[in-house]
Amino acid sequence: MKINFIDLQSQYEAYKKEIDSEVLEVFSSAQFIGGEKLNKLEKSLAIYTGSKHAIGCSSGTDALLLALMALDIGYNDEVITTPFTFIATAEVIAFLGAKPVFVDIEPDTYNIDVTKIRAAITDRTKAIIPVSLYGQCADMDVINDIAKEYKLPVIEDACQSFGATYNGKKSCNLSTIGCTSFFPSKPLGAYGDGGAIFTNDDDLATKMRMLLNHGQNERYKHKYIGINGRLDAVQAAILNVKLKYFDQEVQAREEIGSRYSDLLDDSENTQVITPKIKEGNTSVYAQYSIRVKDREAMIKRCAAAEIPTAVHYPVPLHLQEAFEYLNYNKGDFPVSEEVATQIMSLPMSPYLSETEQDFIIQTIKGK
Ligand SMILES: *Cc1c(COP(=O)(O)O)cnc(C)c1O
Repeated sequence: MKINFIDLQSQYEAYKKEIDSEVLEVFSSAQFIGGEKLNKLEKSLAIYTGSKHAIGCSSGTDALLLALMALDIGYNDEVITTPFTFIATAEVIAFLGAKPVFVDIEPDTYNIDVTKIRAAITDRTKAIIPVSLYGQCADMDVINDIAKEYKLPVIEDACQSFGATYNGKKSCNLSTIGCTSFFPSKPLGAYGDGGAIFTNDDDLATKMRMLLNHGQNERYKHKYIGINGRLDAVQAAILNVKLKYFDQEVQAREEIGSRYSDLLDDSENTQVITPKIKEGNTSVYAQYSIRVKDREAMIKRCAAAEIPTAVHYPVPLHLQEAFEYLNYNKGDFPVSEEVATQIMSLPMSPYLSETEQDFIIQTIKGK
């Protein structure tokens, strides 16, 4: 059985006619940057999330960078985030000359442990970036309450959670700024790099729109030092098609995710810890990640059955060479460190069949 880790081929086959026609329209219009496809996408993204403003940009990384730039975060500032995430979250903080300050994660959701945030706040703290990891939102209400107390903005790294809900509200619209990614393998993926920024603040929206276009407010008038952070029209055209079917895909992801958990969770199988979705949350399962004691053996067993797996993420950020200068040590974030040695992701896509899933589950259980 040939199982794909993420089945982008089947997805393309399903929407091929519409995607091809939308992309060809961009080619013949020769409007490659900005234009009608992007405007349409931004309107749809705003409606989808309930945010006042949705702004397309070049990637999830640039979305996070633009958010921090709009908040004037830079040298000598501190930004609180988690060490158990993709490097981009902390990279953009460091890139601007600010200091990433890490706070450990919860052992069951792998999101930032809100009980540990307060202790990390200093008079240099300028923002909090919770990550909604694997497709489930961090505990945003509690984080927003803490942030309000200290007058801090909150940037949700929603690069894995577009489409997820938190107490009935959509991810990306839960804080000062929400940032998502349309990297091909994300729940809503483009055919190249892409991302979006969300806010209900008019001034921040205007500023971020300028920043992603070299800080221009009109052509060749530069109000800010910005970047080239635009989303191109071809990606917007593809996303317009995929967004139409996204809710169906989210539903399929949820069903497949819960089915994995139901079938892996039986009592004879204490080997595997399945992801816990908190009350009030829905997950888009950007990854379906389990914890196992002997990960190397489990990966080998899967590989022998030709089941592709991945590890998100094997090394927490405080132990990365690039962040050595922050002077963190092994043992500083024990939950992140333990999870990093045990976590592994299984194939997940809306196109994963029950037969494929059953085969994966049987292999994991060693039956
Ligand atoms: C993918 C990802 C990013 C970066 O998004 P890109 O579009 O690849 O730049 C940032 N944070 C998290 C948590 C991610 O998963």
